[in-house]
Amino acid sequence: MAFTSADIRNTLKDFFGFDAFKGEQEEVIHSLLEGKDCFVLMPTGGGKSLCYQLPALMLDGVAVVISPLIALMKNQVDAIRGFVSGNESIAHFLNSSLNKAQIDEVKADLLSAKTKILYVAPESLTKAENVALLRQVKVSFYAVDEAHCISEWGHDFRPEYRRIRPIVDEIGKAPIIALTATATPKVQSDILKNLGIPDALVFKSSFNRPNLYYEVKDKVDAEKDIIRYIRLHPGTSGIIYCLSRRKVEEMAQFLQINGIRALPYHAGLDAKTRAENQDRFLMEDVDVIVATIAFGMGIDKPDIRFVIHYDIPKSVEGYYQETGRAGRDGLQGECITYYSYKDIQKLEKFMKGKPLAEQDITRQLLDEVVSYAESGQCRRKLLLGYFGEDYLKDNCGMCDNCLHPRTIFDGRAEMKLVIRLVLSLKEHFKIEHLAAILAGSETALVKSYNHDKNKYFAAGATHTEKFWAAVMHQGLIAHLLEKEIETYGLIYVTDLGRMFLDDPWPLNMVEDREFSGTGGGDDDEEEAAVSLAALRGGGGDEQLLALLKDLRKDMAHKLGLQPWILFQDPALDDMSIIYPITIEELKNCQGVGEGKAKKFGKPFVELIAKYVEENEISRPSDYVVKTPAGSNRKSKIISQIDRRISFDEVASAMDLSMEELYEEIESIVSSGTKLNLNYYINQEIEPDVTEELMDYFRNEASSDSLEEAISALGNDYTEDEIRLVRLKFLCEVAS
Ligand code: ADP
Ligand code: MG
Repeated sequence: MAFTSADIRNTLKDFFGFDAFKGEQEEVIHSLLEGKDCFVLMPTGGGKSLCYQLPALMLDGVAVVISPLIALMKNQVDAIRGFVSGNESIAHFLNSSLNKAQIDEVKADLLSAKTKILYVAPESLTKAENVALLRQVKVSFYAVDEAHCISEWGHDFRPEYRRIRPIVDEIGKAPIIALTATATPKVQSDILKNLGIPDALVFKSSFNRPNLYYEVKDKVDAEKDIIRYIRLHPGTSGIIYCLSRRKVEEMAQFLQINGIRALPYHAGLDAKTRAENQDRFLMEDVDVIVATIAFGMGIDKPDIRFVIHYDIPKSVEGYYQETGRAGRDGLQGECITYYSYKDIQKLEKFMKGKPLAEQDITRQLLDEVVSYAESGQCRRKLLLGYFGEDYLKDNCGMCDNCLHPRTIFDGRAEMKLVIRLVLSLKEHFKIEHLAAILAGSETALVKSYNHDKNKYFAAGATHTEKFWAAVMHQGLIAHLLEKEIETYGLIYVTDLGRMFLDDPWPLNMVEDREFSGTGGGDDDEEEAAVSLAALRGGGGDEQLLALLKDLRKDMAHKLGLQPWILFQDPALDDMSIIYPITIEELKNCQGVGEGKAKKFGKPFVELIAKYVEENEISRPSDYVVKTPAGSNRKSKIISQIDRRISFDEVASAMDLSMEELYEEIESIVSSGTKLNLNYYINQEIEPDVTEELMDYFRNEASSDSLEEAISALGNDYTEDEIRLVRLKFLCEVAS
C-alpha cells in the first residue's frame, strides 16, 4: 500500500493535532511505511515516539513497541488514547503489571485487529504465551525504543534486549525501527549488529536543544539561590538533582519549609513512596522533585521548566541526559548547575578501592565535567562537541557564557606551543600531564617520565596548569587535537593541527572562569534573570493561563490521567493568546486535533468564554465570529455548515439559540439554497429514523409545513428529528 505525503500530514494534523513535523520525523515515517528498517538517533525530546506511533496508525496490523520502561507504558498508552475519542482498544500494553482479566482484554482486542499499537516490556516479549499470541496477529513493524539498552556500552544495559532479534524471527518478520538518544559510535554499532539490521537507514539528528538555557554557577549559598529562583518561577515544574540521598532529603525539607511544594525521590525510599512521589509530580500536586539520578529515566513530563544540579554530575553524558528532561515540549527549559571544585574532590574520594580501570574511566569523565564547568566558551558548543557535533554559531545567546562573554584572546602562539609539545613526545599523554609540563609543575608523573628535563618544561610557566588545560580543550573543539577513545583520552595532533602549525590562523580563545566555591553572590545573576524573561517572550494572558492550568489539573485528576495528556503547555499558551471559545476555534491551538478538542475541549472553551466576557476582552479578530445581522448572518451559517461544524457549535459561536439557528437555516433553505446537512444528521439521527421521516415527507405529507409534520409525527419522533429531516427533504427532494 502506498501512502502519500498528504496522507501522512493529515494523520499528523487530525490525530496528533500538530501542524508540522519536527526534525526528520517525516523522512523516518516515509521509510518505515515503505517497509525499510530504520535507526533513529534523536536527543531526548526530539519526538521519537511519533516516528512509530504515526505509521502504526496508518499501516495494516499492530505495531509492537518494545520499551524497557514499564512504569511509563501506561502513560504512553493513555497519551495515545487521549488523542481519540471513544476507542480504548487502539493502544495497549503488555507487562507484568497486568492481571488476568486485563490480559484477556488485550488478547481479545489484538485478535480482533482493533489494536494498532502494543507496548511490550522485553521480558514479556520473551514469554512463550505472548510469542504464541503475537504469531496469530499481523505485526506491521517492530519498534525498539531506548535501543541503547542493547549495548553494554550504553548507560542502561538490559540483557533481555539481546534476545529481541531471535524473538522477532519467531513471531514473524517485519521491519524494525530502533530509536535512542545515546549517540556514541560504539553503542550505535552494537545496536545495528544485535538487531540484525546492518542496512537500516540511519537518521541522526542534531543533538542541539535550542530551547534549553545552560548556566553554571559558583556554589555559594546555593540553597538560598535555589529558593529565590523557584519563587521567581511560581507554579512551574522542575527537578533538582543531588548526589546523595541525605542531601535529597535535606533539600526537599528545606524547600517545603520555604513554602515550596517539593518531594524527595531516591532509591532509599520504599517503592510505594517512590511511585507516589513520582505520580504527585506528574499530576502536578507538587512542583518540584528533589532526586538522585535514579529519577527521571524516561520521565515523559513535557513541561519541566527547570533542571537544577545542586551537585555536579559525574559525567557530561549524564548531565546531558538529565538536563534533557527540561523543555521537551519545545518551550524554554533552564538548566542550572552549581559547581565547586570541592565536590569533584569528594567524588574522587569515593573512587578509592574501586578497580583501577574503573577509576581511570571515572577520573576521565570527571575531568570532562570540570572542563565543561570551568570553561568560558559557549556551553552549547562544548556539549555538542562532546557528542562529535560542530556548533557553528559564535554566540548561542542561550547560555551564561554567551550572555556574559568572557575575555577573548588570540591563542595562536599558545596553541602552537601545545601542538609542538605533543608532537615532540614519543608517546601520547593526557591533558593534565601535558598541562603540567607546560606550566612547569613537577608532579610525580612528570618526574617519572623525566619530563621535567623536556625542553618544553615550564615553557608556558607564566600561565597555570588550568590555563593550559583550557587551551587544549579548545584545541579539541577546533579539531586541531583529538582524543584517543580506546586509550581513555590520550591526546594526539590531527592533520588540521599540523596544518595549523605550518601556517597558523587567528584563533579566538576564551579564558576560563574562576570559581571560588566560597565567594558571595553577585549582581550578574539578577541581570541574567531579566534577560531570560525577555527571551521567554510568551505574550499570553498569564491570568487566564493560570486558570487553564488549574482546570487541566482538576480535570486530569477526575479522569485519572496526567494533565499533559489533556492538553500540553503549548496548547494552553495558544489558548491564552487567541482565546478560542468554540471547539472549532480550539483546533487552532498547537497540538489540538479533532479528537482532543471534542474529548477534552468543552470545559476549556467554556472557561475562556466566561473569562473573555467577565474581563471584556476583545479577541484577535481572526478568531472571532461576531454576531452578524441579516444576510451576513446567513452567509456565516452557510459557510460553517459547509465546513461541517455541528449545529450546537455554530449556535454557540454565533450566540444564537438552537431555535434561532433552526429558523435561520429554514429560511435559508426555503429561499432555495441547498445545504448538505448529512454530516450532522448522520451523527444525530438513526439512519432508519431518517428514512422513515423522509418517507413521510415524500409520500404522506400534504405540504412541507412544519406544523403539520409535527402534529402528525410528534408522538413518535422528536421535534429536532422532524425539523432536521424536513430540511434534508427540502434540500434534496423538494427543490
Ligand atoms: P523523545 O522520545 O524523543 O524523547 P517524545 O516522543 O517524548 O520525545 O516527544 C517529545 C515531545 O515532543 C512530546 O511532548 C511530543 O508531544 C512533542 N512532539 C512530537 N512530535 C511533534 C511535532 N511534530 N510537533 C510538535 N510537537 C511534537
Ligand atoms: Mg522516548
